[in-house]
Amino acid sequence: MTSSAHIDHALGFTIPSRNARGRILRLGPVLDDVLAAHAYPPAIERLLASALVLAALLGSTLKHAGGQLTLQAQTESGVVSLLVADYKNGEVRGYAKFDADRLAELGPDPTLFGLFGKGYLAITFDQAVTGERYQGIVPLDGDSLASAAEHYFFQSEQIPSVVHIATRHEAGEGCLAAGMLLQHLPEGEVGRDRLHTRHDHPEWEHVQALAVTLQDDELTNPALPLTDIVWRLFHEEEVVRVTDPVELTKGCRCDIDHIRSVIGRFPASERLEMADDQGVIGVDCAFCSRIFPVLLDSFAEG
Ligand SMILES: [Zn+2]
Repeated sequence: MTSSAHIDHALGFTIPSRNARGRILRLGPVLDDVLAAHAYPPAIERLLASALVLAALLGSTLKHAGGQLTLQAQTESGVVSLLVADYKNGEVRGYAKFDADRLAELGPDPTLFGLFGKGYLAITFDQAVTGERYQGIVPLDGDSLASAAEHYFFQSEQIPSVVHIATRHEAGEGCLAAGMLLQHLPEGEVGRDRLHTRHDHPEWEHVQALAVTLQDDELTNPALPLTDIVWRLFHEEEVVRVTDPVELTKGCRCDIDHIRSVIGRFPASERLEMADDQGVIGVDCAFCSRIFPVLLDSFAEG
């Protein structure tokens, strides 16, 4: 693994003797790139950074290329009304909607409950090859998105999981966020249908105890290779297999040709209504915080 793979990469690993699998990843420049499209206050940047890490952790467990993982956190009356992050083929994107005045009243370091009040996290897996789509919804009643994700796996999937997410956000420096997911997938329980769930997992309890010793500053130390973290945590295990790192990038699917083709399907009369006085239709992408101008004149007759 090259040194550049310490950052903006996801690494998969398995511990066969414990029936455990994991993902570990760190976002740096990609995160700055996503955040640069918006001008969010630090508390919202940290929240979105955590959501992007979680989306990539969960998304990188999708079996087939082309699958998509979407996180959506919502409330009715929270300071943050909407938080969206998704992952597809190594690409992450996301945005948040929030009430800036109410956020300012919460101080510099609001809790998850402060941000969302009574909120919910929807986790949607879209499997590309099978077309299978499933969604789980859990309340945001823990202290972090990571604990909501643990809750989701335990409740909806009966998969004991450890999710650890850390962000580092210092003035004048870029933002850094990282996370690790560790899951117990006992033999015969890898598929989605299970006849029963065992509640005693001594093999799992052992790796779980090791996983929770992971420190925030290890995760967010850009000089520390991800493989070193996995090694430090699990070096006493018989075999730890590490997969090739997957590069993470900032992605959005808002390309101008696609936007044009969507608008082109509307009747000419409706396109006319969408356009401003200059004959320009402005189409915005919430993820990129950009407006794409499409000229009314660019559509052929009919
Ligand atoms: Zn976009």
